[in-house]
Amino acid sequence: MTNLVQNKGTEDKLLDVHHIKKYFPIKGGILKRTVAHLKAVDDVSFSVFKGETLGIVGESGSGKSTLGRVILRLLDPTEGEIYFNGDEISKLKQRQVRSYRRDMQMVFQDPFGSLNSKMSVAELIEEPLLVQTNLSRQERKERAIKIMEKVGLRADDRLKYPHEFSGGQRQRISIARALIINPQLVICDEPVSALDVSIQAQVLNLMKDLQDEFSLTYLFIAHDLSVVKHISDRIAVMYLGRIVEIAPKRALYDNALHPYTQGLLASIPIIDTDDTKQERKKTRITGDLPSPVNPPTGCPFRTRCPLAHERCSVERPELKSPENDEHLVACHLYT
Ligand code: SF4
Repeated sequence: MTNLVQNKGTEDKLLDVHHIKKYFPIKGGILKRTVAHLKAVDDVSFSVFKGETLGIVGESGSGKSTLGRVILRLLDPTEGEIYFNGDEISKLKQRQVRSYRRDMQMVFQDPFGSLNSKMSVAELIEEPLLVQTNLSRQERKERAIKIMEKVGLRADDRLKYPHEFSGGQRQRISIARALIINPQLVICDEPVSALDVSIQAQVLNLMKDLQDEFSLTYLFIAHDLSVVKHISDRIAVMYLGRIVEIAPKRALYDNALHPYTQGLLASIPIIDTDDTKQERKKTRITGDLPSPVNPPTGCPFRTRCPLAHERCSVERPELKSPENDEHLVACHLYT
């Protein structure tokens, strides 16, 4: 699915996120007053179009997982709006959110931690049907067997427990559980990072096949650009709670504009093939991620950026398009 953004209109948007912030209060003193805020997500806006995969990439602490939980309304946003299929869902009460949960599911990083070890695979996979539908026991069983086979699990294993499966199989159980109620959007929070590299490719291929078969839209969260490369149509790069660059996949890998994105690309090991003989812009990222409680003034990346200049410490760069509307970057080098 290439060039998904081109010729897309409002009716093609599944998810629209406007200026979302998620601040966590930090309490201190005897009276436990709020003394500061941890700015996990700090003014993030983007759209996701029906049928595409938007990859969200950033280091641990960049706010990407919190963003996924806010979109799913597992966490309330501090500010901003979230539109799903044109309906605003950011201000809904939790009981009103329930009807949208059916259309928005999440696959978590740690399948062992996210699956109740006391429930059999059949119970785990059928649970969303029990909560969200009025299907009979027999109908639930039939649907569960069908989805197990789709994700490459044996129906005979339905009475086994999560610990009896490998990591890759447990992630297949999580995927089956997410897909059994036919969601439109699946938020995948580092779904393959806990798996061996060989198993990662199998699970990613499975997710791609399921996307085509069930017309799914993915928000795919990962901490490095190599994982999202094959599955994403577009990629957003997050740093300290903000999107610093967003572009179609090809544009991002061939012509990364932001020094942070260039650094992430430089950290991917390269196998020396004709394809990679072109010199990649080698901006190495050094130093640690600053605290989101007290982020740097101006550009949040300036404390680690080899190209930082005077303006970077006083003025925060906005996410703008230097060349075309599909490739946006927040950096003073392009304004
Ligand atoms: S705005 Fe300045 S500090 Fe920030 S990424 Fe661009 S050059 Fe570096």
